[in-house]
Amino acid sequence: MSEPRVAVVTGGGRGLGKAISLALASSGYWVVVNYKSNQEAAEQTLELIRSSGPGGELLPFDVTDAREATSHLKGLIGRFSRVEVLVNNAGIAADSVFGLMSAEEWRRVLDTTLDGFFNCTKPLLTHMVSNRRGSIVSMSSISALVGNRGQANYAAAKAGIIGATRALASEVARLGVRVNCVAPGVIETEMIGDLPLSEIKKMIPMGRLGKPEEVAGVVRFLCSDDASYVTGQVISVNGGML
Ligand code: NDP
Repeated sequence: MSEPRVAVVTGGGRGLGKAISLALASSGYWVVVNYKSNQEAAEQTLELIRSSGPGGELLPFDVTDAREATSHLKGLIGRFSRVEVLVNNAGIAADSVFGLMSAEEWRRVLDTTLDGFFNCTKPLLTHMVSNRRGSIVSMSSISALVGNRGQANYAAAKAGIIGATRALASEVARLGVRVNCVAPGVIETEMIGDLPLSEIKKMIPMGRLGKPEEVAGVVRFLCSDDASYVTGQVISVNGGML
């Protein structure tokens, strides 16, 4: 049997990460589902992965913990010779107007998004470069582009993803590794549970929220050979909001 092509999805157990994991499974990847604490959701996702593709496994760790991330991901490339895809999807929001935002809320959001990007990309990049094959897709947000009120921490973190994506893309463009990000608008997951959705829908030209599968399809495209000349890009998936 040939070596499986492996895709790692951080925060892959639920929400957007679940839809992305399933999309990559149906494209033939062995999907490695990272999560932090919601084991039950991750196990349910793994069952679905097994019924939609070659299979996968769970790899729980906290993306903010550099030592944990490095040791788990190095372990993975010790076992698999073709880790081809990394989706940096794990993310959190801790919304507050800036005047009331605590240092802890600022730090927690930046750590998860930006340290998460660094901690997970670093151990896999050398492997992808030496294989001359890899696609890294990270989750930015419309918030990075418009600067949503009450989201200075989140907007800063997600804008940082765009900068890091463009810089890394230009460093590895000649080495067979593509680096892109996706900027979703408002997508139906637990993350948006506290938002005033009927007001928000009025601001979306399509008049509805996005579905996780509509983001996952774009991620799948970016990971595929159909996107072989696409790197350093930010693809918006937002129902026409910008
Ligand atoms: P959810 O809150 O539904 O899921 C977040 C996922 O991230 C969970 O799987 C969670 O793990 C994981 N996670 C959080 N912190 C860590 C950590 N420190 N280490 C490992 N995993 C972690 O979010 P969404 O699915 O809505 O969002 C996914 C991504 O898309 C995020 O980066 C988000 O910012 C971005 N996004 C979402 C939008 C939306 O409208 N939903 C819009 C724009 C961007 P666990 O299950 O263990 O808790």
